[in-house]
Amino acid sequence: MEIQFAERIRTLPPYLFAAIDQMKREALSKGAQLIDLSIGDPDIPTPTHIIEAMKEAVEKPEHHRYPSYEGMLSYREAVARWYKRRFGVQLDPEREVLSLIGSKEGIGHIPLAFIDPGDVVLVPSPGYPVYPVGTKFAGGIPYFMPLKKENHFLPNLQEIPEDICKRAKLMFINYPNNPTSACATAEFFKEVIEFAQKYNIIVCHDAAYSEVYFEEKPISFMEVEGAKEVGIEFHSLSKTYNMTGWRIGFAVGNKDILAGLGKVKTNLDSGVFQAIQEASIVALNTEESDLKELRNIYKARRDILFEGLRKVGFEVEKPLATFYLWTKVPRGTNSIDFVAKLLKETEVLCTPGVGFGEHGEGYIRFALTQSKEKISEAVERIGRLKL
Ligand SMILES: *Cc1c(COP(=O)(O)O)cnc(C)c1O
Repeated sequence: MEIQFAERIRTLPPYLFAAIDQMKREALSKGAQLIDLSIGDPDIPTPTHIIEAMKEAVEKPEHHRYPSYEGMLSYREAVARWYKRRFGVQLDPEREVLSLIGSKEGIGHIPLAFIDPGDVVLVPSPGYPVYPVGTKFAGGIPYFMPLKKENHFLPNLQEIPEDICKRAKLMFINYPNNPTSACATAEFFKEVIEFAQKYNIIVCHDAAYSEVYFEEKPISFMEVEGAKEVGIEFHSLSKTYNMTGWRIGFAVGNKDILAGLGKVKTNLDSGVFQAIQEASIVALNTEESDLKELRNIYKARRDILFEGLRKVGFEVEKPLATFYLWTKVPRGTNSIDFVAKLLKETEVLCTPGVGFGEHGEGYIRFALTQSKEKISEAVERIGRLKL
C-alpha cells in the first residue's frame, strides 16, 4: 500500500531543527568537537524542590486517573496568585486560567477554535514556527508581520494593509521575543489593543520568556488596560523553571477565548498529569532568590558571548531578556550558508535566522544554553574566523 500524507503535511516547510540536527549528526560523525548553541532548551536541571514535590505527588493514587481538562483548581489558583504577585494582575482561577500540556500545545491548537478556512492570522516574522503552522492546520492564512531592527523588532501595525486587517481574526505576538530577544513596551501593547478592538482581532501573546530577564522586568500583556477584552496570554513553566520536558503551561485572560481553546482541548486531549500540576504549584512558589541565581547564570553567559561577538566584528543586539543573541551575518552571505561555514570552520553550531521566517534572513541566533566555559571556547574559536 502506498502511504500518502495529507496536503497539510506535504506542504509543511521542512522543520528547521530537523535540518540542523542532520548537519549536527554529520559533524559529530566526523568527530567534531561541537559546541551546540542552536537549541532553545535550558541545560540546567529542574530545581530540586520541584523534583521532590513531583516524587511525592506521583505516589498519590488519585493522580493516576484522568485529570480535568481545564486543570486542577489548585493549579489554576497558584497561577492566579503568581500573576497577582508578579504582574499585579487579578485573574479568576475558574474562568480566566486554563492549563496546557506546554504552551506549544495551546498555541498550536488555538487557531482550531477561531479560524475558518481562508481567515487571516497575523504572525510575526521572524517568529516561533508554531504560529504559522497552527494557523495552516486550521485552514487559515498566515500574514507575516516583519520584525525589523529599526522598529525595535516590534511589528508596525500601520503597515498592515487594510484588507488584511479586515480579514484577520487572530494575531500572535511574543515578548520577550524569540528569536530577536526584544522586549515590548506598554505603549506597544496599548497600540495592539486599540488595533484589535478596531478590527475585532483576538490577540494571543506568548510570554514564555517573561522570567528570563537581565535588566528591567518584562511586562505582561495582561497588565495593560483592555487586554483582557481582546486577548489571552500563553505562559509556560518550561523556560522559567527548566521544565521543558515536563510539558506544562497555561493560558490566562479573556474567558470566552479560553473557553474556545478549552472546547478544542476537551475533544483532543485529557489534560496534564496531576502529579505534574502539583509539582508545578510548588514551582510557581519558587523563591525569588533561586530565580535570580538562574538569571545570573544566563547573564554571565550573555556578557561573554555578546562581548566576544562584538569584538570579532558582529553586529549583535545585547539581549535584555531571553537566552538568545540575535546576530547579523556578515555582508555578502546568508544565514544558512553562514551557519554551515561556522560549523565547518569552528565546530560551533547556531540557528539560521531564515528558519524563523523570511524576515529572519540575514541573521543567526545563538542560544545561551551551554556553560560559561563552553561559550568562552566558542567565542575563542569564532575569533579565529575570517569574517
Ligand atoms: C520555548 C517556547 C515556548 C514554550 O514551549 P512549551 O511548550 O511551553 O515548552 C513558547 N513560545 C516560544 C516562543 C518558545 O520559545
